[in-house]
Amino acid sequence: MTPFADYHMHTPLCGHAVGKPEAYAAQAVRVGLQEIGFSDHAPLVTGPDPKITMSFKELPVYYQMIEEVQAKFLGNLAIKMGLEADFIPGFEADTEEIINDYPYDYIIGSVHYIGEWGFDNPDDRSGWTEKDVNAVYREYYDLLRQSAKSKLFDIMGHVDLVKKFGHRATENMTGEIKETAKAFKAAGVAVEINTAGLRKPVGEMYPAPDALKIYCKAGIPLTFGSDAHDPKDVGKDFDKALALAKSVGYKEYVIFKKRQIDQVIKL
Ligand code: ZN
Ligand code: FE
Ligand code: FE
Ligand code: ZN
Repeated sequence: MTPFADYHMHTPLCGHAVGKPEAYAAQAVRVGLQEIGFSDHAPLVTGPDPKITMSFKELPVYYQMIEEVQAKFLGNLAIKMGLEADFIPGFEADTEEIINDYPYDYIIGSVHYIGEWGFDNPDDRSGWTEKDVNAVYREYYDLLRQSAKSKLFDIMGHVDLVKKFGHRATENMTGEIKETAKAFKAAGVAVEINTAGLRKPVGEMYPAPDALKIYCKAGIPLTFGSDAHDPKDVGKDFDKALALAKSVGYKEYVIFKKRQIDQVIKL
């Protein structure tokens, strides 16, 4: 059976997603999920960007929206309250403040920025032409390790997002990934299989099979996420995600509640 929980989806508050939370939940029921978690983009600590994240003022709106849909689907679908927060070095205290503002079920920590460069933002794509791809990959993995060490997060989001537009390191990154797995293990964070990569130029899930195998071997717990920005994508390609998880040796995935692993589910 495909995983029954999708822990990565957005709301229109972030400025680049469509559909009410209710529509995401309805789609989840339609495709046979038993649990979802909203993980909309937390307010950007470096300054507002209405096309990328909700604003600080919108946080209470987010809580209310999700609480309403939780009540509406009670008994039919478990709905967790999560958040996808950016890791931005130097802003850990600001990030912590956001995270502590509500009793979240889990926080996904994501690296979308190297310095001020939003490397996965289609509007910032030209940045790639000036950069050394191998250096970008190494900086990215370093930021992933730092984000785990910060202890701000429970799940590391799309852990090879740098490949989104198809830019590939020409040097072997296995050492970087192994170091990253060690940092994840030490911090006690989980990783996700994120199916959104299949809908992006790279055309594959995050992370790649070889990397996921390293995380599995290191004993890193697993979650699943569609990273839906549209209700139609909820639970998308979870058959492929299940096959990927099994192919690298995962036997189980985890369910979070109040920022703790609450259940371990057999695959
Ligand atoms: Zn987004
Ligand atoms: Fe993200
Ligand atoms: Fe996301
Ligand atoms: Zn994301």
